[in-house]
Amino acid sequence: MKTLIKNTTAYVGKDFDRYDDIDILIEGDKIIDISEGINEKNAEIIDGSDFFVTPGFINAHFHPSQQLNRALGIGLSHDEQMDLLHATDNIKKKEDKYWMSFIAILESLKSGTTCFQSVGSEIDSQVPVFDKMGVRAVCVLVPKDILAESKKEKIRAKVWDTEERIEKAEESYKKYNSDLLKVHFGVVNVRYASDNLIKGMLGLAEKYNTGFHMHASEGNIYVNKVKERTGNRPIEHLHKKGFLNNRFSLAHMTKLNKKEIDYLSKAGASVVHCPRANSYVAVGVCPVKELLDSGVNVCLGSDAAINNNSNEVRGEARSAFDKISDKYEKADLIDYKTLFKMLTINGAKAIMLEKEIGSIEKGKRADLVLWSKNDLPFIPGFNHIADLIFTESCMAHTVIINGKKVLDKYKLVNMDEETLKKKAREISERYYNSFKEKVAKHL
Ligand SMILES: [Zn+2]
Repeated sequence: MKTLIKNTTAYVGKDFDRYDDIDILIEGDKIIDISEGINEKNAEIIDGSDFFVTPGFINAHFHPSQQLNRALGIGLSHDEQMDLLHATDNIKKKEDKYWMSFIAILESLKSGTTCFQSVGSEIDSQVPVFDKMGVRAVCVLVPKDILAESKKEKIRAKVWDTEERIEKAEESYKKYNSDLLKVHFGVVNVRYASDNLIKGMLGLAEKYNTGFHMHASEGNIYVNKVKERTGNRPIEHLHKKGFLNNRFSLAHMTKLNKKEIDYLSKAGASVVHCPRANSYVAVGVCPVKELLDSGVNVCLGSDAAINNNSNEVRGEARSAFDKISDKYEKADLIDYKTLFKMLTINGAKAIMLEKEIGSIEKGKRADLVLWSKNDLPFIPGFNHIADLIFTESCMAHTVIINGKKVLDKYKLVNMDEETLKKKAREISERYYNSFKEKVAKHL
């Protein structure tokens, strides 16, 4: 199967150079040619003259199954949000999480995201959702095996047997890992994961040559709790144990000292900046400028709807800019192309897929977004890349993942959107009633 996008504007290569009146030829799952005047009789032709084409965005830290708690934790601290999340575990059915995940992913897809690092205490309900929608994902099971003893039982997170989770993670890899959906390994964080759990999961990442993911250094409480237990700060601990390496992508990272930034840089680890989620639960600001200056790969994540109220990673780029601009009172410390790299190729690097995705290049997978030049944010359209970062609201017209159309004329291709929304609204109504009755009253 071939697709030819004719006479379009495309942002090509790792520096997103603009080409006008260019053609892009896709064969199967790959981009096979980018040049002027391509003639291909046996291809589906897309007239690209009213569009510009970018690589799809990569959301490198995402919890689709937390959609049901959206807007239920406004004004809560990070720890209180987690308490709320765990208190609702008993009223959420696996089926609810499954249907609501469609909504979270659809919201992201419509804003141009084509790949997710999707995280959860279980991934069985996530995998079929990505699969049905035809969306690229790296799914990571992130268990905990240290009990929060100081917490009341109602709000205490479930913990798992260390060996059982390591086996389960390997089983999930064998069961689900495929071309479009990768299974990687991880733990929840350093606070609630033992060294044995980290070691076991990292061993699997080595064995299967995958990435390794966790939340880290997310606010002062997290750092202090890790210090109490291990005598070290989180990144210091990972470094001293010899764990830290270039498989690591670490989300949040708002509390880092100079030494820790140096450890990350030497290890070649990646940081997933989640600026809006960090603000929402008041855990501080990730030192992005200092990380970039030290050569650390920084990408972006939307985290969960419970602690962001958005699943749109594109908006994280704007927030990342605002934080640096506000802190240093300088507008030129991070340029728009660096922000766009954080949305694309840096995300690909963090999940070890930079050879496949993250930029429009010959031989790479065709994960492309077509944006309409007639949409209001893109008029006049002097700098589409900057428009995509600094505009509040833009919708993808067409999304192609692995060479196949997944979104067309703003609508989902593989499933009926209206049916999905109806089902999700029914679940939400039922859930909210039981939330009020069984959880909110008792918090
Ligand atoms: Zn998270």
